[in-house]
Amino acid sequence: MKLTLQRRLMLSFLPILALIGVLGIAGRILLDRLGNAGQAILRENYDSVVAMVDLNEALERIDSSFQFGIHGQEDAHDIYEKHWALYGKHLDRERRNITLPGEKELVRKIDDLTALYREEGDRFWKLKNAGERKHAYFASEQPPALLTRFRQIKDVSEAIREINQRNMEESSRDAKRLAESSRWWFTGGLAGAAVLAVWLSWWIARSVVRPVEELKKAAAAIGRGELEQHIPIKPRDEIGELAETFNLMAQQLRDLRQSHRARLLRTQQASQATIDSFPDPVLVIDPEGNVHMANPAARRLLGVSPPEGAMAVVTQWIPPEPLQQPLSSALRNQQPYLSQAFDQAVTFRIGNEDRIFLPHILPIRDPYGGTLGAAVVLNDVTRFRLMDQFKSDLVATVDHELKTPLTSVRLAIHVLLEETVGALTAKQTELLIDARENAERLLNLIEHLLALARLENAKEILSLEPIGPRALLQRTADASTLRAQDKHVEIDVQADESLPPVAVDLRRIAVALNNLLENAVTYTPSGGSIVLSAEQVDDEQIALAVKDTGIGIPQEYLPRIFDKFFRVPGQSEGAGTGLGLAIVKEIVAAHGGRITCESEPGKGTTFRLTLQVWRNEPRTA
Ligand code: ADP
Repeated sequence: MKLTLQRRLMLSFLPILALIGVLGIAGRILLDRLGNAGQAILRENYDSVVAMVDLNEALERIDSSFQFGIHGQEDAHDIYEKHWALYGKHLDRERRNITLPGEKELVRKIDDLTALYREEGDRFWKLKNAGERKHAYFASEQPPALLTRFRQIKDVSEAIREINQRNMEESSRDAKRLAESSRWWFTGGLAGAAVLAVWLSWWIARSVVRPVEELKKAAAAIGRGELEQHIPIKPRDEIGELAETFNLMAQQLRDLRQSHRARLLRTQQASQATIDSFPDPVLVIDPEGNVHMANPAARRLLGVSPPEGAMAVVTQWIPPEPLQQPLSSALRNQQPYLSQAFDQAVTFRIGNEDRIFLPHILPIRDPYGGTLGAAVVLNDVTRFRLMDQFKSDLVATVDHELKTPLTSVRLAIHVLLEETVGALTAKQTELLIDARENAERLLNLIEHLLALARLENAKEILSLEPIGPRALLQRTADASTLRAQDKHVEIDVQADESLPPVAVDLRRIAVALNNLLENAVTYTPSGGSIVLSAEQVDDEQIALAVKDTGIGIPQEYLPRIFDKFFRVPGQSEGAGTGLGLAIVKEIVAAHGGRITCESEPGKGTTFRLTLQVWRNEPRTA
């Protein structure tokens, strides 16, 4: 049978119940004994005492009747008879109540004396003479006188009364002693029961509370992360089952931690391997600014090493001055820092060589939005920086060493063609015109290249000013009106006067819009039309469109239309360079806008670009 906690508690009280039972039964027996003793005294002794007292009374009366008889009072014979009857009754009572040792002999003695006394009494009453009666009563020797017989009977009856009375007193003393000793026994028994009850309560409480205490301690230890807990299972009751379940839970927690650790280790190894595979230096910084992970490139470059084990001393990394503020704002405000321009680059010296890096700092968040740290990625742009330098040098060289002489050549050709220095033959004129066209094309190319290089360098800051979209489009249209008229192409401006002004660098945006309109005129056959339009996109932006009914651009070339030097094969005309649209795109991007192109061959092309609405406060794009 399974000993449940309830059963165990109930069984624990059994000894107390048994003791109470024993005490109850003993009490009951004692009470019975005391009661029986009283009754026995009454039955055995008290009756004999009363019988002897009554018998004595009757005896006295019989004796008195003799004295009356001596004095001649014959009616006393009636008293004599009446009291003999009573005497007989009392003696009979005593005969039936012989209980004590020696009592029987005394009763037999009194019986004998009674028989003699009666006989002698009866003989007394037959005497008529007072003298004889007196003699029979006082002085006769054989048989003894009635008075003597009376005293003999009285002595025996006294003896019977006395032994009964003594016995009564002894029994009473016995009963008292029994009651006295029972009291002590009962007091002892009750005290014993009380001690046992207290001990049992303490033992039960201890046997229940102790395992619960152990469980509590073990649970608290698990709460602190000490999972190596095992509770010895002693009782096979509910607490035992609880302990067993607890041990099972602790075991599963240990297994879980083990597998978590293994998984964590794998994840850590995988993430370490991932960042190790990056050629650029990558660092993971924890919220306190310590290096949590670093790939070999970072270790080589910065001389930092992340802690090996969990308890390893953390490695501090003091970032170079330009990175301190972005790193702390990434850790504190989760603000990413993505540098793009070379002026944000950081230089590190490795050996004898300076290496240039563009830093990217990205906050790492947990799923609840808390900061886990920040990843610092240093993009090695040393090569690009050198190329940029080379490009700048090239632009400067082209500007000075190529453009200036070419301008002189073009001027010289112009002067020759005007024949101010002498007349030209037809052949010479033809050669010079050809040379002029080539010089023009070369200058155009140089202009475009320089413009693009300057835009890409982003060295020139735009000077923005407000202009109404309609006015802007009208200016653009005016600049190409003559060429369009020559080609019989109509230019129409459709823009609401009420549109808010846009923020543009007039000189640059004019270059972009002119490029688009020039292309539209070029690629629209005679009789076609061009619409310059403007519309509001939202509170912030205005969209401008240049739409023509020209030859269009095949779908497959649209994605490359803004690439440098790209020209649609087979349909690009004249002295183009393929740089016009690339310049337009750069200018629009510098204004914070976007440009798109839609086209359908044979039907026409639409270039759409967005510009920012002018706000009162000055701003730079
Ligand atoms: P370029 O005009 O100097 O050749 P662009 O960059 O301005 O260079 O234009 C690139 C190419 O895009 C052009 O050669 C031409 O083929 C195509 N293109 C540009 N605008 C249009 C247009 N409105 N309609 C059809 N084709 C065009």
